[in-house]
Amino acid sequence: MPGPALAEWLTASWDVMGTRASVELWQQDQEGVAAIELVKQEFQRLNQLLSPWIETSELARVNALAGQQPVTVSTEFYQLLETSRQYSVVTDGAFDITFASAGHLYDFRAGIEPDADALQAAVASIGMQRLLLHPDSTVSFTSPGTRIDLGGIAKGYAIDQAIDLLRGAGIEHAWVSLGGDSYTLGDRRGRLWQVGIRHPRSDNEVILKVPVENLAVSTSGDYQRFFIQDGQRVHHIINPGTGKSAGELASVTILSERSIDADALSTSVFVMGSKRGMQLVESMPGVSAIMVTLSGEVLYSSDLLASD
Ligand code: AMP
Ligand code: MG
Repeated sequence: MPGPALAEWLTASWDVMGTRASVELWQQDQEGVAAIELVKQEFQRLNQLLSPWIETSELARVNALAGQQPVTVSTEFYQLLETSRQYSVVTDGAFDITFASAGHLYDFRAGIEPDADALQAAVASIGMQRLLLHPDSTVSFTSPGTRIDLGGIAKGYAIDQAIDLLRGAGIEHAWVSLGGDSYTLGDRRGRLWQVGIRHPRSDNEVILKVPVENLAVSTSGDYQRFFIQDGQRVHHIINPGTGKSAGELASVTILSERSIDADALSTSVFVMGSKRGMQLVESMPGVSAIMVTLSGEVLYSSDLLASD
């Protein structure tokens, strides 16, 4: 006779990809522990591939060499660059992985920002036209100062990968998050998941709970990595046109079917601001947005208001 079935909620949290990962899932028998292990391994693999801080990552290798010569990359990395190019087109340049040409001059932990001259020189190396994707799976930069960073989509991509793995392992109810990006698989066994949107100026305050199932929810906020310099908030979401932190909004939450879309769009709608950003969201079927302005006003895309 088999032993009693083990059915319960299982949770795990750990640090990876420069942020906090969490998984909560409903496990039937013993399959939950193994499924969480799969997610851990996948996040670790993607960290090794995409981290700007690991010298041997594909991203670091491209940044070190692509200004001088074409660099061969894996199919997966190449596809992420192609996807990034598509987001750049869709967002009218607000999403731009070459923001890193200037972005790498900031150190948010140490409170360091580039001076005006250094920033101006670096901004000249930003622009998706400076990143060449060649058909033979090589990539190169048209200028030596160009750099890329996938921090605006890497977490969303990793979550989509994790959800595929969980589905493959037979898991039907789960919640996976990486920093401000999350996905809810199935429902919470008969109830909807409640994803909290935090107050951008108050750590423990949730301003709103969104009931969801089978949905990606990503939030980009000016409170995630920042310091205050001369009364100004200097944070990690960069306007590619100026090389400076994007103003106007405090947070943008995107709801969509895939986590990579929610991640890329939350970052770029933040850059675009409420007017242009909301226009973009309204034009995309299956995509919703909740924005918090600097004055604390909460703005919703029309589909959310209609379903109330
Ligand atoms: P998120 O937390 O998803 O908003 O992502 C923020 C991260 O996206 C930053 O830490 C950067 O790595 C990256 N990023 C910042 N500005 C941009 C931009 N304009 N386009 C693409 N990625 C960006
Ligand atoms: Mg994002």
